[in-house]
Amino acid sequence: MRSRLAPSPTGALHLGNARTFLLTWLHVRAAGGTLLLRIDDLDGPRVKTGAARAAVDDLRWLGLDWDEGEGVLVQSERGAAYEAALARLADMGLVYPCVCSRSEVASAASAPHGPEGPPYPGTCRGKWRTAEEATAATGRPAALRGQLSLLHLRAASGEVKAVPDLLYGAQTFDVAADTGDFVVRKASGTAAYQLATVVDDAASGVDLVMRGADLLPSTARQILLIDALGYPRPQWLHLPLVVGPDGLRLAKRHGDTSLRGLERQGWSAERIVGWLAWSAGLLPPRSEASPRDLIRAWDPDRISRETVVAGAPLGWDGRSG
Ligand code: GLU
Repeated sequence: MRSRLAPSPTGALHLGNARTFLLTWLHVRAAGGTLLLRIDDLDGPRVKTGAARAAVDDLRWLGLDWDEGEGVLVQSERGAAYEAALARLADMGLVYPCVCSRSEVASAASAPHGPEGPPYPGTCRGKWRTAEEATAATGRPAALRGQLSLLHLRAASGEVKAVPDLLYGAQTFDVAADTGDFVVRKASGTAAYQLATVVDDAASGVDLVMRGADLLPSTARQILLIDALGYPRPQWLHLPLVVGPDGLRLAKRHGDTSLRGLERQGWSAERIVGWLAWSAGLLPPRSEASPRDLIRAWDPDRISRETVVAGAPLGWDGRSG
């Protein structure tokens, strides 16, 4: 088994990320597998200086480790690998440049749409072969048009992808209806998350992807890319999110649930790990533990698909104030 921890250094790690990372760590360590570290720092404007270091420090503080000898993938240093994959997709005629702005895509929408916005209507499909051609033809300078030279992967209409998830079972998504042709390289020239994660997991031989259940719909898009690029499909195990008492995913309005913030409020790492272990059915409430203590108790069959409710402010069992 080869898996990875892939923090996004866009802010402090919070209880939800910590739960995903702890359960991933337990699953891999209990199986005697290899655990890699990857830094998902492609989300340009949202990546905060020093946050990668802070994420690594937070993971260590919790008591998590990874197999150092395997090296750490830093996505912002992987541009050449992403370009090589994009060139292969282009050779297969699967991607095309697009100069539509976000607002143009939004105003072309005729039907109500989901949280990711309306599906791309395919306006630029088949118009130009390269981003340079598109720029020359439209004169849309990248500096003014944020979306210039987007590359979209074609999503065949009616294409339904079943994501075989180890916890949620088969989940089906209609990529064409949900997102349409989706972005694989942003106007800035940076690879989009969908492409980067697929290229990196293939390059590092990851055969089990564990991450938050918010990424389940993304997995359908990633399967299109994996199959197009001829990579082996990994297995997927998505983990339920931690939500506030209002049922919404953890955010500022629920108080400070960052690990740093909880530490300031007097929580030790052992108490946080104990709470997370309780939330995964591994320990009684109000326990304290280190990740190593939990390896023997680890039982993936105990993970529930229910979202985990954290009280605000967090009490011992996460439900009382
Ligand atoms: N960086 C993503 C996150 O922190 C995980 C991406 C992935 O596992 O593919 O939610």
